Amino acid sequence: MRDLLGGKGANLAEMNLIGVPVPPGFTITTEVCRLYNEQGREAVVAMIKEDVKKSIQHIENLTGNKFNDPSNPQLVSVRSGAPVSMPGMMDTVLNLGINDAVADTLAQKSGNPRFAWDSYRRFVQMYGDVVLGMKPTNKTDIDPFEAIIEDVKAKKGVKFDTELDVDDLKELVARFKAAVKENTGKDFPTDAYDQLWGAIYAVFDSWNNDRAILYRRMNQIPEEYGTAVNVQAMVYGNMGNNSATGVCFSRDAGTGENLFNGEYLINAQGEDVVAGVRTPQQIMTEGSRRWAQLQGISEEERAAKYPSLEEAMPECAAQLVDIQQKLENHYHDMQDMEFTIQDGKLWLLQTRNGKRTGAAMVKIAMDLLREGAIDEKTVIKRMEPGKLDELLHPVFDKAAVKKAKVMAKGLPASPGAATGQIVFFADDAEEWASRKKKVIMVRLETSPEDLRGMSVAQGILTARGGMTSHAAVVARGMGKCCVSGAGEIKVDYKARTVMMGEKTYKEGDWISINGSTGEVYDGLVATVDADLSGDFAAVMNLAEKYSKMDVYTNADSPRDASVARKLGAHGIGLCRTEHMFFEGDRIKAMREMIIAPDEPSRRIALGKLLPLQRGDFEGIFEAMDGYEVTIRLLDPPLHEFVPHQLETMRELAEQTGRTLEEVKLVCDGLEEFNPMLGHRGCRLGNTYPEITEMQARAIIEAALNVKAKGVDVHPKIMVPLIGVKAEIQMQADIINATAQKVFAERGDTVAYKVGTMIEIPRAALVADQIAQVVDFFSFGTNDLTQMTFGYSRDDAGKFLAVYKNLGILKVDPFEVLDQEGVGQLVEMATRKGRATKPELNVGICGEHGGEPSSVKFCASLGMNYVSCSPYRVPIARLAAAQAAVEE
Ligand code: PEP
Ligand code: MG
Repeated sequence: MRDLLGGKGANLAEMNLIGVPVPPGFTITTEVCRLYNEQGREAVVAMIKEDVKKSIQHIENLTGNKFNDPSNPQLVSVRSGAPVSMPGMMDTVLNLGINDAVADTLAQKSGNPRFAWDSYRRFVQMYGDVVLGMKPTNKTDIDPFEAIIEDVKAKKGVKFDTELDVDDLKELVARFKAAVKENTGKDFPTDAYDQLWGAIYAVFDSWNNDRAILYRRMNQIPEEYGTAVNVQAMVYGNMGNNSATGVCFSRDAGTGENLFNGEYLINAQGEDVVAGVRTPQQIMTEGSRRWAQLQGISEEERAAKYPSLEEAMPECAAQLVDIQQKLENHYHDMQDMEFTIQDGKLWLLQTRNGKRTGAAMVKIAMDLLREGAIDEKTVIKRMEPGKLDELLHPVFDKAAVKKAKVMAKGLPASPGAATGQIVFFADDAEEWASRKKKVIMVRLETSPEDLRGMSVAQGILTARGGMTSHAAVVARGMGKCCVSGAGEIKVDYKARTVMMGEKTYKEGDWISINGSTGEVYDGLVATVDADLSGDFAAVMNLAEKYSKMDVYTNADSPRDASVARKLGAHGIGLCRTEHMFFEGDRIKAMREMIIAPDEPSRRIALGKLLPLQRGDFEGIFEAMDGYEVTIRLLDPPLHEFVPHQLETMRELAEQTGRTLEEVKLVCDGLEEFNPMLGHRGCRLGNTYPEITEMQARAIIEAALNVKAKGVDVHPKIMVPLIGVKAEIQMQADIINATAQKVFAERGDTVAYKVGTMIEIPRAALVADQIAQVVDFFSFGTNDLTQMTFGYSRDDAGKFLAVYKNLGILKVDPFEVLDQEGVGQLVEMATRKGRATKPELNVGICGEHGGEPSSVKFCASLGMNYVSCSPYRVPIARLAAAQAAVEE
């Protein structure tokens, strides 16, 4: 029904069926909208003209009034309604069918001329705006109709619309119409049917306005849906003090508390409640008291000036309480409703499943489960996995963020809230942090050299880079708040300043960043901690119960590993060993290894790295006791590790007993034109087998060491960037030989697995051959996306935003797995790999492993697990469970 009638139309029809009072009306279907777009206006009018007339007559029969008849007028409302809610796409037109003669009759019949002329001026204003397109010409202009209202109020010396009398309202109508004539060159339409068709066209046309197109693109709503048009008999909340209008929620949309709540205004029409001109009042007395307390209003003043609906119109309030319960029972979900009271009679104008925060989403679903309204699978289906993010990180205090000033906007690269003093360099971040200062690292972009600074910062803000930029990936891994690619900020490293908008910030100035929205705020904004017990834990347990695919984590340290374990990770799917080389003095040994002139000196340097790596692995194995730990061999190009500054080069020269010139020469020699396609991944281990040997030894020795302590250890050794079977064969041979050697030395063994990443398209194409050598595949979809699209991960930010705007791409393929293209490779490799080896273990460890739609895709291919950064583990668990219950 929703597809045909739109959300609003379907729910109106349903409310009518279950006995909720709704004004009579009809819905023009989304199918008509599609025909309108394909065949044009005339064709559609010819097709539906008679039906519209008949439907209007049906309304007339029910109300006893007549549309387009000044002696006994029937007015209607016209509202859009797409199959999925698209807030703000199209406004409502109320009081349609009014003209001078009708207004006079309404005044006479109601005995309330103010009501009649207020309705009339509202109609001309809304119709002028929505149908005739009279809007402010630029964002600093005020609405042309509001300008006239302001002028009339100013002349009269009053502040509120409610202080205008009938003559003022008549003047408004006249001036509004004159403005319309001046603007459009045409008289304001007086015939009710002309008005109606104008409004119907406007709703259909609104489907293709810029705002709607953008909204659909952002929310991946199909273009072909179309919108329905709802035409309903008007009911009036502005008929006097026995009339009112309001909005209400069957539960609290912010916290999820089971508390019916809402706001209303006496003698008002719909838009007044949200317009903020008058102070809306609370529906329930309990809510009203809470509200007054927050506002610092005394109980006496509250009861006198801002009574609840329960107090002001007890019968209507009681009926509304029953209806909201009835609707919630019917839809089994929290409802967001609009109502109008006309002269003491309650009408429902709309109901829909209410939008809610992540916290409310979890609490409402679990409450409904406990109440027996929904079952466990429905709880899982109801979750929007991405929203769990809100629950995992410290969050900004709601009141504080409302007052905060937004200075810039970037990509919401890693969720959470962070506030701190600006520093520009990693060493400063460390130094400031050691003095217990909270810092936010502001960079053009980050590189592995910044890792330590990032790890002590509260958050990271970069001017460049996309969702898989170094800063974004690392920050997510750390569960650290990050806003990346804030293109409008101007970072000046030399001056140690960053310009945002008009303001120049110096090192040490305070800013706050919101990694969930990408917003950057001026100054310090207060935060509160996340709570992961209670309903959150209960939802996670349900996810566990239903999902068929496991969730692992990408973690490079014992700390990350235990965080992920607490969040429900069942293993490590990717431990990027290179990150370990930047800690403390290790980089020195690493650099010594890189600039070693021959194998013997390289082995000496590697000998220094061995105990350090072994120690790291022991820590991670212990943290993951009982679970698999996948350790990836060295992947990035060596040149990422070498010093770029003269000072560090000199240090390295001294440390290795070589001249500065020699060191410089080696470093320069490591420069590559395309490092991402250069000497990296398994190419390192195949050209310098002693690196693989050292890493394999460190892994196996660590495993034996912790095994001796009673740890249940399951090491998996993973080779990156394979494209040719011989590459993995050579690496596997080195690993196996090393393991055998260590086993012999130690007189003990441990079971281990050897696998490969599938991240080069060629590897996917020859996956059947590669599977002959390995125990497992792990899709590195970051590189696989990079190489399939031919988009550099680090540079794509420059054009991806434009591509999305132009509609060339719907989403960032580094964020959401491109199922159509890259997905084919993933599917093929899984199929071919398992054809060779049915028991082949298959997972994914690219960033997509934590993105819900990509996780579901992986589940559909029958993968064994997805692996993602620690704070995305719950999201992936939920998506995996959804995949299972939606099967
Ligand atoms: C990948 O390419 O998807 C991957 C996980 O490896 P990295 O991001 O370290 O290149
Ligand atoms: Mg990779």
